[in-house]
Amino acid sequence: MTDDALKDEGAPSVCNPIDPLQLPSPLHRIHHPLLTAHGVTLWCKRDDLIHPSLSGNKWRKLKYHLQQARAQGKTHILSFGGAYSNHIHALAAAGCRLGLRTTGIIRGEAASVSNATLSAARGWGMDLVFVDRQNYRRRQDPAWLAQFEDADTLIVPEGGSSPLALPGVAELVDELPFSPDLWVLPCASGGTLAGLIAGKRERERILAIAVIKGGTQLRDEVCRLHPGAATTEGWRIALDHHDGGYARFSPALWQWVQAFCAETGLPLEPIYSGKAMWGLFRELEAGHIPRGSEVVFLHTGGLQGLAGLREQGRL
Ligand SMILES: *Cc1c(COP(=O)(O)O)cnc(C)c1O
Repeated sequence: MTDDALKDEGAPSVCNPIDPLQLPSPLHRIHHPLLTAHGVTLWCKRDDLIHPSLSGNKWRKLKYHLQQARAQGKTHILSFGGAYSNHIHALAAAGCRLGLRTTGIIRGEAASVSNATLSAARGWGMDLVFVDRQNYRRRQDPAWLAQFEDADTLIVPEGGSSPLALPGVAELVDELPFSPDLWVLPCASGGTLAGLIAGKRERERILAIAVIKGGTQLRDEVCRLHPGAATTEGWRIALDHHDGGYARFSPALWQWVQAFCAETGLPLEPIYSGKAMWGLFRELEAGHIPRGSEVVFLHTGGLQGLAGLREQGRL
């Protein structure tokens, strides 16, 4: 299936997700005094601009899952996420666009989680099933999953991170008109990093900023998703910029992100893209980015999450 097929087929006219996909995603130069001081050139690969509701790495990771659903004649996609999940949001939009039924298994009680992310997903026709934490833990147990699926169902893992996520991410490398010295991106489940490792040219290096508290299991997970990563040189996960752990952030981080957005015009949120940019600038200040480097920061999207953070009074 080509990008065009995903662009145009079966999009019901009632869906807002029929907006065209902006591919290749734009590449924008970022100017900042600290970059100048360190002699580093920074570009941002704007995957957040691929589509207003199907943005970023979640689109990249879903692409070949959607293709597989088509190829296997599956008409229903089932996946999992938290109440503010970018993945659930993107999957619902994609299902609406392609005329596929979608189900989101959501961690939490229905009453306690009504928010902008879930309203949008519901509006695009996704069935939401709320499960408590204990049941949510069984999301990889086929016996438990059987109650939600039938012969027409394709199950996509949480966050869309499976080996099938890799080619969709890997192909973004070829959208660049040059070969950067360094890629920088946020890393949570490791699926996007695994795809970028699979796609990068040999000379290119990758700095992944862990946005969760993690240790060696993050690296292990990347190697599980992409066994070739174990023998690929030039990538590293920085583990000390998590700022408290997944979806946590300090007032200082959020202030830094807002100042950065004002200075550069680049929109960021504090959980993934903002935290990763903050991590990159901490690495820069620590002298870990060689002078003269051409760096490409992968903007993985996720800006829809800002509405949820505002609703919760966290911004
Ligand atoms: C899910 C997500 C990530 C993390 O990607 P992984 O493949 O899970 O490492 C990064 N940025 C945004 C905006 C996301 O939604």
